[in-house]
Amino acid sequence: MNTTEKHHFQAEIQQLLDIVIHSLYTDKEIFVRELISNGADACEKLRFTQASGAAIHQPDVAAGIALTTDEAAGTITFIDTGIGMTHGELVENLGTIAHSGTKAFLKQLAEDKKPDAKLIGQFGVGFYSAFMAAKRVTVFSRSLAVEEQGWQWISEGTGGYEIAPAADLPRGTKIVLELKDDAKEFAQKDTIERIVKRYSSFVPFPIELNGSRVNTVQALWTRSKSEIKEEEYSEFYQFIGHDHEQPLLRLHFTADAPLAIQSLLFVPARNFETMGMGRMESEVNLYCKKVLIQAKAKHLFPEWLRFLKGVVDSEDLPLNISRETMQDSALMQKLNKVLTTRFLKFLDEQAEKDPATYEKFYAEYQRFLKEGVVTDFTHKEAVGKLLRYESSLLEKGKLTSLADYVKRMGSEQKEIYCLMAPSREAAESSPYYEVFRERKFEVLFLYDAWDEFVMEHLHTFEGKPLKAAEKAELNLTEPKKDGALSEDAAKALAQWLKETLGDKVGEVRVSQRLVDSPAVVVDADKFMTSSMRRMLKAMKKDDQELGPEKQDFEINAAHPIISRLDQMRQKDAALASQVAEQILDNARVAAGVLEDPRTMLKRLNQLLEKVLNQ
Ligand code: ADP
Repeated sequence: MNTTEKHHFQAEIQQLLDIVIHSLYTDKEIFVRELISNGADACEKLRFTQASGAAIHQPDVAAGIALTTDEAAGTITFIDTGIGMTHGELVENLGTIAHSGTKAFLKQLAEDKKPDAKLIGQFGVGFYSAFMAAKRVTVFSRSLAVEEQGWQWISEGTGGYEIAPAADLPRGTKIVLELKDDAKEFAQKDTIERIVKRYSSFVPFPIELNGSRVNTVQALWTRSKSEIKEEEYSEFYQFIGHDHEQPLLRLHFTADAPLAIQSLLFVPARNFETMGMGRMESEVNLYCKKVLIQAKAKHLFPEWLRFLKGVVDSEDLPLNISRETMQDSALMQKLNKVLTTRFLKFLDEQAEKDPATYEKFYAEYQRFLKEGVVTDFTHKEAVGKLLRYESSLLEKGKLTSLADYVKRMGSEQKEIYCLMAPSREAAESSPYYEVFRERKFEVLFLYDAWDEFVMEHLHTFEGKPLKAAEKAELNLTEPKKDGALSEDAAKALAQWLKETLGDKVGEVRVSQRLVDSPAVVVDADKFMTSSMRRMLKAMKKDDQELGPEKQDFEINAAHPIISRLDQMRQKDAALASQVAEQILDNARVAAGVLEDPRTMLKRLNQLLEKVLNQ
C-alpha cells in the first residue's frame, strides 16, 4: 500500500522558493548556518521539555548536532537529536507561512527590486535556504512525543512536497541535501568546516562534522562573569581575536535596558595602526542568540573605536533586518550609543582603578581617543575625560586628566590653559609660558601635533573654556620695573620697530606677559596660534589660501636687549634695525613659525662680526 501523500506549498512559500532557487547565487553558504540554527533550536526545546519532567522518546540520547558530507554522493546531511516533528508539524512548519522570519522576508522582497542572498541570510528564512544549494531535500523526522512515529518529507522545491511514514527513526531530525551541480563544494568537509566555524562556533550544543567535534569554544559572553576562569577568557580572546598576545583590557557586560545586550570586548595589547600596518578594522562581531549575524559589524561602534575586538549579542535584533537597513536603523544607532557609552564609562573606571594599565592603554591608543573628540560629537565630553597631558605643575612624565586640572584651579583662574610645544624643555623655556609661571597658573603641555585641534573641538571642559597659552589674555600682576623703559619710551620704540620692520609684522606693542624673553610673536588672527598655523601650512594644498599671515610682535620693556636696542637706535640706526630683525626672527624660532632658519644666518654672522670687532 502506497501511503505517500502529496501536498502543495502555500502560494507565498512557492513564491519564496522560486526566488531562492532561481535568483540567489551569492552567499549560498548561509544555508549551513540556518539548518544548524534550526537543529540547535530543536535541541533547546528538547532540553526545555526534558526539564519540565515530561516523558520523551529516547531520553538517554543527548541533544546534539551532526553533519556528514559525502563527496562521492554529492550530499550533505544535517542530523539533530532535538524535538523532531510530527506529521502535522511537518506540514505546518515546512510548507506554510506561519513563521515570522519568512513573512518579514516576503514583505521586504515585495519592496525590493533585486532579491539578494544577503537578505535571506539576515532574515533567517531558515529551512528554505536549503534549496539554494540542493536540488532535492529529504527530511526524516521523529517527534519527541513517545506515542509518535517517524516521517519522511521530500521536495525538489517546486510543485510541492511528499510525506510518507518512515519506520525506526531515532528522535530528532535528519535532513539530506542532494546538491545541485553548481553547489557541489558543500559536499566537501573542509568547506563545511570553514562555514561552521565562521557562523556557528558558539552554538551551545556539540556540532560534529564527519565524526569530529567542530565547536570547542564556548560562547563565554553568555555566562556569568563569576564563573569564568582567566584561562577561558584567554582562550576565547585568542579564538576570536586571532592574537597570540594577551589583551590589554577586557569588558564583559550585560544590559537589559534599553536593549538586551551581552557583550565581551577586548582592547588588544598593541595598536597595529600606528605601527604602520594600515587602518584597523573593527573586529567586533554581532550575534543574535549566539549565531553570527554580521562579522566585523560596521556601525556597531563609532569609527574611532575600530581597535576593539569581541562580541556583541543582542536578542532584540530581529533577524529580519537586512544589512543595508542595519547600517542606519534606529536600532543599530541605539545599540551603538549604549555600547559606546558603556565602553567609555569602563575606560573611565579603569583609569581610576588601575592607573598603570590605563597609562599603557593611553600610550597605545591616545590617537584614537583624540579622533573621537574631533569626530564624535555625541561622546566628545566623555572622551575628553579620558585625555591625559603633562602639566607645568607635575613632574616630567606624569600625566593629568582635565578633571584633575580643574580641581586644582584657583578661584581667580577662569580658563584651562594649554601650551603646544615639541618637548617639555621647549614648553618650559617658551616665552608664552612666562606669564603662567609668574602667576602660578597651571598649563597643560601638548606635544602631539593633533592636540591643539583636539582642544579646539573639545572647546570647554566642565564648563571651563580651553585656551591656547599664546591666546590667553593674561598680564603679569607686577611688571618688572628695574631697568625697564618708561611707558612712553617703550611706546616710541614700538613705533620705531613697526616702521623699521614694515610688512614683516602686524602690530608692534609693549608686552605685559614677558619676563625672561625680550620679545614674542603672536598670530594676528584671533583664533589661530602659531602651531596651528604651522600645521595648516604643512597640510595645505598648493592652491589653498590660508588667509593673510601676520604676526603681531610684542616687546618686553624690562629686558636689557630691548632697553639697549632703544639706546642703539639713536646711535647707529642701521645696526639697531639689524638687531630688531634678529629679535623678530628669534621670536619666530621660539614660536616655531620660522620656515627656514638658514635665511637669518647671514645677518647673524654680520652681527657676530660687529660684536667681535669691538
Ligand atoms: P524559523 O526557524 O525562522 O522559524 P524555518 O523555516 O527555518 O523558520 O523553520 C520553520 C519551523 O520548522 C521552525 O520554526 C521549527 O518549528 C520547524 N523546524 C525546522 N527545522 C527543524 C528541526 N531541525 N527540528 C525541529 N523543528 C524544526
